[in-house]
Amino acid sequence: MRSPAALLAAVSFAALVFASARPGRAEQLDVVLQAGHQGRPASCAPLHVKKCNLGAGSPIGTERAWTPIVADAAARTLRADGFSVARRPADYAAHDRARFAAFIHFDGASPVCASGASAGFPLGTSPALAEHWRRFYAARFPFAFRGLNITTNESGYYGFRKVDAPEKLLIEFGELSCPAQAAWMKPRLDALGVLLAHFIEMDLAR
Ligand SMILES: [Zn+2]
Repeated sequence: MRSPAALLAAVSFAALVFASARPGRAEQLDVVLQAGHQGRPASCAPLHVKKCNLGAGSPIGTERAWTPIVADAAARTLRADGFSVARRPADYAAHDRARFAAFIHFDGASPVCASGASAGFPLGTSPALAEHWRRFYAARFPFAFRGLNITTNESGYYGFRKVDAPEKLLIEFGELSCPAQAAWMKPRLDALGVLLAHFIEMDLAR
């Protein structure tokens, strides 16, 4: 049995904790990581998603299978380094608040090998962040980095609206439909996740 004084202290501590949390708003996380297309098509109908894009594919692999591997490796790395992470699939009900949100994809193109790596960001994210990523990844990815916000699918990505964060980045790690790029990426999916985690950690330390 706790003394009345201890009980009072516990109650005031709880009041303090709850007062500091903004009511009705999600907890502030360090990082949100979304694996593009993960969980589709099953998640589309329950979450009223009309454009149920299943992602790119080739005989070497599918985007839906690859993005969770990258996202999980990035989440593991960030958590091991002490960062709080929400790991999200393509469709989910939650709305997150975070310092950084990354949306993980691989591109598909026709004709094949017409594309490569690219990245997208919304209004509100500094173009300098996307440019940092471009330079960071282009130095490691041995194929073309096509550019930033090269399509409206990139700049207007639906996932951006699921998160309040000052920094949001949609990442196309490479073209899955291009055999040479896919063959380079396939054995490196974990490594790509670790690379992304280290980039995010560098950014958050700035
Ligand atoms: Zn995609």
